[in-house]
Amino acid sequence: MAINELKPLLDELCLNITDFLNENTEITKEHLSEYLKNSAKLISDISDNDLTSYNTQKNLLADNYKNIAKECLTSYEKTSSKISKLSEKHKEAIAACEIEPINLPKLTSKFNEIQNHMVDEVARANFIISELSTQIKDLEEKSNLDPLTKIYNRGALNKYLADMCENATDKYETHLLVIDIDDFKQINDEFGHIAGDKILIYISKILKRTLRDGDKVFRFGGEEFIVILNRIKDGECITIAKRLLRLVSENKLIYKGNNIGVTISIGATKLKVGDTPESFITRADKALYRSKHSGKNKISTEPI
Ligand code: GH3
Ligand code: MG
Ligand code: MG
Repeated sequence: MAINELKPLLDELCLNITDFLNENTEITKEHLSEYLKNSAKLISDISDNDLTSYNTQKNLLADNYKNIAKECLTSYEKTSSKISKLSEKHKEAIAACEIEPINLPKLTSKFNEIQNHMVDEVARANFIISELSTQIKDLEEKSNLDPLTKIYNRGALNKYLADMCENATDKYETHLLVIDIDDFKQINDEFGHIAGDKILIYISKILKRTLRDGDKVFRFGGEEFIVILNRIKDGECITIAKRLLRLVSENKLIYKGNNIGVTISIGATKLKVGDTPESFITRADKALYRSKHSGKNKISTEPI
């Protein structure tokens, strides 16, 4: 018998008592006591095995706990393999609980234990991740690398050019290319900022792959790069610049199903004795300006 079946039974007994009282006008204390004793016996005769409802409720609750615990485990499993191993351990513990008769306090304490382990594990993982991020940032700063493209940053360019201008001689020819992505704002607007970032990485890779070991590539700012070509003649500089134009324009970046085509414009110049980093870059910038204003996707040069 289920607990909810006891309620109608009690209601029925109440009604019977009322009827009993109504039908027997000369009712005594003994009569009433006898009637109640009989009713109590009726209830006590219900076998304990019939009273399944309480245990059913308890089991249901326990099952709910187990399901929540399992859901937590499944979700945490996705976070890391370490957590996944921990989950396995605790899954076994939960399975062991399933074999034993339901023990709600034990199950609850197991569940709490699992939660504490998980919270500790996630906190530790977060700590390690944040430590590593700080270390990577420090390393990048020390190594003068641009965090996005992993090529040298503007700080590195300043040092490199200052040193180069100070030691400039007529003996070797050094060229500087200032490279600017064409219509980059439009790419960001059309495909999103992340797509724009991917283009910056993609172009950095093309530059690094194409240039020789002695050449240097820097991210000058936003969507601008500077390339230093060491020990080459004017003609070679133009050949290299044209190769870069072709490689960029002939390849496409595939991002989220979109084929993103991009071009660059280049301004080139040569180092002269007496140049400062600023005068060197300004000359190349003038050439870049001409490339931009004569149709883009081209190289212009500025003589010394
Ligand atoms: P132009 O052909 O004349 O060079 O046009 P442009 O659109 O390339 O030049 P503009 O100066 O108008 O826009 C440059 C854009 O580059 C605007 C800016 O939001 C974007 N940009 C700069 N740095 C980053 C970056 O790190 N990531 C992304 N996604 N966009 C950047
Ligand atoms: Mg620009
Ligand atoms: Mg641009």
